[in-house]
Amino acid sequence: MKIVNQIKQFLPRQFGLYARQTYYQLRKIYFAGQPYHCPFCQKSYRVFFDGGFDLPVINEMQIIGSGRRKATICPGCGSNDRERLLYLYFENQTNITSETKILHIAPEPSLSKFLQKKAKQNYTAGVKYFEGFYYAKNTLLLDLLDLPFDDGQFDLVVCNHVLEHIPEDGKAMKEIFRVLKMNGKAILQVPWSPLLEKTYEDANITSAKDRERYFGQFDHVRIYGKDYPDKLKEVGFHVDIFEPKELNMKDNVARQYAINEKEIVFVAKKPVS
Ligand SMILES: [Zn+2]
Repeated sequence: MKIVNQIKQFLPRQFGLYARQTYYQLRKIYFAGQPYHCPFCQKSYRVFFDGGFDLPVINEMQIIGSGRRKATICPGCGSNDRERLLYLYFENQTNITSETKILHIAPEPSLSKFLQKKAKQNYTAGVKYFEGFYYAKNTLLLDLLDLPFDDGQFDLVVCNHVLEHIPEDGKAMKEIFRVLKMNGKAILQVPWSPLLEKTYEDANITSAKDRERYFGQFDHVRIYGKDYPDKLKEVGFHVDIFEPKELNMKDNVARQYAINEKEIVFVAKKPVS
């Protein structure tokens, strides 16, 4: 991978984008068919690819929103089941317009395009910098523990599958709460186990190997339990929960979008004080 990244440094940025677009265009044609459908690229496919990590703790703890998933990756745009579930949530439960100020942290590419198209210039994407990665143009490099925004700036913050990587997750939740407007919402999806009453974390588990063994991924620092919504409430959020079946899904949509029907959408709302 190091060599690939070094070669990339010498190629014009446009070249990489063009190659990626062409690759996905060809896959859209080659994999066209039934029974899957991707709402982001608005095409149907004969396959979605398997994706995610497969580790014993994920199965033992029945972790939702993590682990190896069969038929999850769209061949045409790379979206996964979690993104398509949020597509349903945004389409059915929100009214995002060009007036909606959105902060999208660690943006998933297909969801990012979808939100950006709706919010236009009011869409901001931000991510923590890691060496060796390419970041999309206009993506801010930021620290979730110290966001570079004034209080009460955003109507919507989207920050999925990030908190399980952060030792000071409470501090990150407070920062998200701070930058939201009154009545603003945050979508903060995390992997969690319905078998755990309380979130499991241990600051002594630090090696990649041990984190895989105990938390289900080399860079996760905990497994959230049924108390996850309580953690959001402690920061001041009001928490609403949506199950996939509540999202106006017509027959077969869950199957066509290959959505995990056990995955719940957690919506953290900043109440008017
Ligand atoms: Zn797609």
